[in-house]
Amino acid sequence: MTERMPVVFVSHGAPNALLEAPDAVACWAELGRRIPQPAAIVAVSAHWEAQRPTASLAAAPATIHDFSGFSPALYQIQYRAPGAPALAEQVVSLLSGAGLAAGLDPNRGLDHGAWVPLSAMYPDADIPVTQLSLVGGAGPATHVEIGRALAPLRGDGVLIVCSGAITHNFSWINRRAQQGENPFPQARVFTDWVAENLAAKNVASLLAYRAAPYGADSHPTEDHFMPLFVAIGAALDDAPTRYQPGFTYGGLAMDAYLWQDSPAR
Ligand code: ZN
Repeated sequence: MTERMPVVFVSHGAPNALLEAPDAVACWAELGRRIPQPAAIVAVSAHWEAQRPTASLAAAPATIHDFSGFSPALYQIQYRAPGAPALAEQVVSLLSGAGLAAGLDPNRGLDHGAWVPLSAMYPDADIPVTQLSLVGGAGPATHVEIGRALAPLRGDGVLIVCSGAITHNFSWINRRAQQGENPFPQARVFTDWVAENLAAKNVASLLAYRAAPYGADSHPTEDHFMPLFVAIGAALDDAPTRYQPGFTYGGLAMDAYLWQDSPAR
């Protein structure tokens, strides 16, 4: 039996994580080494929302520097992985088959939610990538369905990389905090609550995360939490391993999760 590829969720942090968050970068690099070499990647980032799930057909996706006010060095980084247009078509077909009307974008490149962690996971940029959008305002349950629809790709050597944030409240951000230093207490409470409920596979509680301690406060807008639900759907019944590279800027939890087939299968 072919081994199913794992599913990964990363918290991508601030756009300058590659330059300023060495512990997170080391964690992403370790994930890249630990995961069997993928044939291709579907990247789901918090920074692309559309009216329906939309996959990119770009054959050579551009590196989108979708931020402002950061170091000039960050704007020089190019992530030149090839695109995966055939995989994009397959993604749309799987989503449509699951009753989720989906679309294709001819040109969309990789936003920083995708290329920042991929630069650390796969620095050679030799694995084809298609980016898949979130559905703006659709909420957690729809994103779990999207993930479930993508799960069969795991049997074809496709890695599903979901990139968002466990906590994403800008009023909790302290720009002077060093990585790992003085995490905002409410952010830590919610981050641990997420870890406990993922470990327990308590999807019902996670879907109702806004009622959890500091759940709504951790996500004044839902976009950065939605990639986690895509991962939960794609993970099926696999158990997650938690990685904790600490917090950046005191308020952004950098937790990552890897779901793998249990060895007993
Ligand atoms: Zn972001």
